[in-house]
Amino acid sequence: MTENHEPHLHPDTRTVTAGRPARQEQAPVNPPVVLSSTYVSTGSPDSGDLVYARLGTETWLPLEEALAALEQAALPALVFGSGMGAISAALDLVPAGGEVIIPRHSYHASLVAARHLAERSRVRVTEVDIADTAQVVAAVQASADGGHEPVLWVESPTNPMLEVADLPALAEATHAVGGLVIADNTFATPLGQRPLGLGADVVVHSVTKYLAGHSDVVLGAALTDDAGLHERLRTRRSIGGAVAGPWEAWLALRGMRTLALRVERSQRNAAALAEHLRDHPQVVAVSYPGLPDHPQHARAAAQMSGFGSILTLRPAGGVRGAEALTRALRLWVPATSLGGVESSLERRRRFAAEAVTVPEDLLRLSVGIEDVSDLIADLDQALEVASHYA
Ligand SMILES: *Cc1c(COP(=O)(O)O)cnc(C)c1O
Repeated sequence: MTENHEPHLHPDTRTVTAGRPARQEQAPVNPPVVLSSTYVSTGSPDSGDLVYARLGTETWLPLEEALAALEQAALPALVFGSGMGAISAALDLVPAGGEVIIPRHSYHASLVAARHLAERSRVRVTEVDIADTAQVVAAVQASADGGHEPVLWVESPTNPMLEVADLPALAEATHAVGGLVIADNTFATPLGQRPLGLGADVVVHSVTKYLAGHSDVVLGAALTDDAGLHERLRTRRSIGGAVAGPWEAWLALRGMRTLALRVERSQRNAAALAEHLRDHPQVVAVSYPGLPDHPQHARAAAQMSGFGSILTLRPAGGVRGAEALTRALRLWVPATSLGGVESSLERRRRFAAEAVTVPEDLLRLSVGIEDVSDLIADLDQALEVASHYA
């Protein structure tokens, strides 16, 4: 059907080639969008058949193949209507009586979803400092010793504290006690980190962010090499109903074609910004895994290629300074979400659900692909405004 999985090709090349219609005379270069809720079918359908669009549509398939080619998964990705759709399905893999061990600085809705499961007494939830390998391993072992089936949720780097987990060590410790490892790879993107290769059993993505890349689509995905887990996730998608619309799937694939260029540029911008802000008189703290003084810099260098395009800063002037800075920006967009071509930022603690261990004045910056000197000039004038509150 379509060309995919060309392991000899560089991942950057696969972002361009994967999920194309088969090359033949007069074939379109891009997959078509098919708008149909149902398909002609008779008899008893096989699982791969097109029957009804909640169960599967041909418009998902090219994106699912392309995502699998990037994560080098043995099976196609499963596209969901949002990152949280994929995350909810992945959390449903936790058995009754199981235990989710999750970073205390996970994406806040993932934490809320895990806590909801716990409130209904289905599972236990233990929050950990995911950068502290000994602490996480101890939690996994205590869970197994207590007769709970541990499921380790890994986000690395975390949102927004940018803690980096030792994925291979944590996966090994979890597998040693028969547990499952699920990794949210949204921040790093498949070009920056390949969790399946580092030991994760399932990878989830908010495709909304870097993969789609233009802040115009909400979409998610889950990937695994394991046929049993794949089938369970697919069933959760069909039954849960958090399915992607055909246009969204098409737009995400179209956005993904430029992923390598966008990531390359935004990472370069992020590194330059981190350097600039590090010694800035109006900045109290800056965090970026690419800075040598980031606590897990060496770990990030070992397991990632590139350090991502998210950094955090605490301006002089505290919360009022941070809010004044946000309002004073002309180029940076004050908005939630991340991973778009446009640079954006927000003070995460404006959300009541954000962890109280995230500093009140911390700004999360999602660095885009603009010219970096324009980004620096705009931030500098806004930092000057913020400093009046110091
Ligand atoms: C945004 C985000 C999500 C949620 O994805 P949606 O597409 O908004 O549902 C999950 N994890 C991380 C790390 C995110 O940044």
